[in-house]
Amino acid sequence: MAVALNALHIKASDSCKNQVISGNWTLWAVLTRGRPAARNLNSNERSRNSISDAASAVKDEQEMIHKYDAIVIGTGQSGPSLAQRLTTEGMKTAVIERKLFGGTCVNVGCIPTKTLVASARSAYMARRAEDFGVMINGSIQMDMKRVKARKDEVVRQSNEGVANWLENMSNLTVYEGHGRFEGLHTVRVNDELLEADKIFIDVGARAFIPDMPGLSEVNYLTNSSIMAVDFLPEHLVVIGGSYIGLEFAQIYRRFGGRVSVIQRGERLIPRDDEDVSAAVKEILENEGIEVHLNATCIAVENRGGQVAAKLDCETGPREVVGSHLLLAVGRHPNTDDLGLEKAGIETNSRGFIMVDDQLRTNVPGIWAMGDVNGRGGFTHTSYNDYEIVAANLFDNDPRRVTDRIFCSALYIDPPLGRVGKTEREVRKSGRKALIGKMMMSRVSRARERSETQGFMKILVDAETKKILGATILGIGGDEVVHSILDIMYADVPYTVIQRAVHIHPTVTELIPTMLGDLKQLTEASA
Ligand SMILES: Cc1cc2nc3c(=O)[nH]c(=O)nc-3n(C[C@H](O)[C@H](O)[C@H](O)COP(=O)(O)OP(=O)(O)OC[C@H]3O[C@@H](n4cnc5c(N)ncnc54)[C@H](O)[C@@H]3O)c2cc1C
Repeated sequence: MAVALNALHIKASDSCKNQVISGNWTLWAVLTRGRPAARNLNSNERSRNSISDAASAVKDEQEMIHKYDAIVIGTGQSGPSLAQRLTTEGMKTAVIERKLFGGTCVNVGCIPTKTLVASARSAYMARRAEDFGVMINGSIQMDMKRVKARKDEVVRQSNEGVANWLENMSNLTVYEGHGRFEGLHTVRVNDELLEADKIFIDVGARAFIPDMPGLSEVNYLTNSSIMAVDFLPEHLVVIGGSYIGLEFAQIYRRFGGRVSVIQRGERLIPRDDEDVSAAVKEILENEGIEVHLNATCIAVENRGGQVAAKLDCETGPREVVGSHLLLAVGRHPNTDDLGLEKAGIETNSRGFIMVDDQLRTNVPGIWAMGDVNGRGGFTHTSYNDYEIVAANLFDNDPRRVTDRIFCSALYIDPPLGRVGKTEREVRKSGRKALIGKMMMSRVSRARERSETQGFMKILVDAETKKILGATILGIGGDEVVHSILDIMYADVPYTVIQRAVHIHPTVTELIPTMLGDLKQLTEASA
């Protein structure tokens, strides 16, 4: 069973001899620091040494081709684990990484943002201290350099952990550089040409930069460049009202800056239900974040060093002027400079590599895992992609992408945990369904903590009694929702969880109560 924890998931498997200790990646990363450190080689040295050590070089007429059984391009959330499995299965493997070991999640995504969420929550709770009878003499100050240093340290441990892990993996050669296909089975990295029958692409995605009027005239931040910020932006303007944008919006508001969110559509997080969008907006506005919806045509301009964002592309009052601009308007797959055309690998109109249910591309012997295949977009889905590929290749286990149940969390505070279908999706499906909803203000744990914002909602198939989906927006929502997710994976009726005795006082204990009060999903219950 895979243990999915923290930065990079590690599968606790007998056959994975490098994957020691436990499934806890942070623990693993910390412990590996006691081992012989990874050689701190520059990319050329690393390639040279690795090649003479491990790769069998064959002299081609033009140049050396380094032959492997498998090549993994990218060290995101699936590549390193798959490399581990490939090498354990006796395959001579090359891994290519162009930038930061561990990829987005470790370096500029989940891990650093959640350290910032933690700092922001500390500031928020410190400001609320009096509500709990805790008196702080003096004002609450942020030391943004310390916030960043804490974040950097957590990231460093994970990033170095991945690098060390790969460095010490036997039968593996690590190349640092940008990999590009040169043909069906050949990939170039720096001056080296590699060849393998099996190639696995895990190159991820990056912040999408829209073709927005005026953007070339202003400085802007992305989820990557904001990681270097060690000061408090006086007024952060966030363009994008979905998961990434909202996390940063609340973080910087809680740090003490003014924050405006600009959303093109009529509501925030538009893939979620309307009541969820409305509640999230209320939570953010309660903290003083300014939310601008229906920004039908956004343009930006430099106004004396400030950034002015016009919301309608017309002159008029609908504009926001701030000190800094963060773009959070989606992700773009890293496929534009991958030489896919040389291997004949198909992408869709947005550049995502097209794969089948077992993550095979249209070219035999080439797989695409993680964000680049457009089938997931999360750390857990990328890691699951590795599991699917490994199970099909080595375990005679036909795992598929469509086996997995959607799950995600939005890490504002309180968090939003989501599994399965939304209410809107259930309605659209036309099936007979039941719905249960409970405000967090009814949950005693939430009241005890004076954190009663949000609600829980669950949808059940009226005929099979199986749970179709759930939303928990409230304290612990990201964790609590797993009790529902596991019941869905167990494929048993909701009555199993309804009859369970849960611990008091928890948020989870109210799930059986909510299930005991299901109503028909009708127009009126919308
Ligand atoms: C701000 C932010 C917060 C997030 N928070 C969460 C969260 O809380 N939970 C969650 O589940 N997900 C979160 N995500 C999403 C998550 O980070 C990604 O889904 C996940 O990292 C995808 O992993 P991946 O395996 O597809 O590749 P990535 O992690 O993107 O890694 C790809 C790697 O490939 C390398 N690469 C790219 N092209 C080449 C090339 N040509 N040659 C060699 N190397 C190459 C890159 O340098 C990179 O290291 C967040 C994302 C962002 C941006």
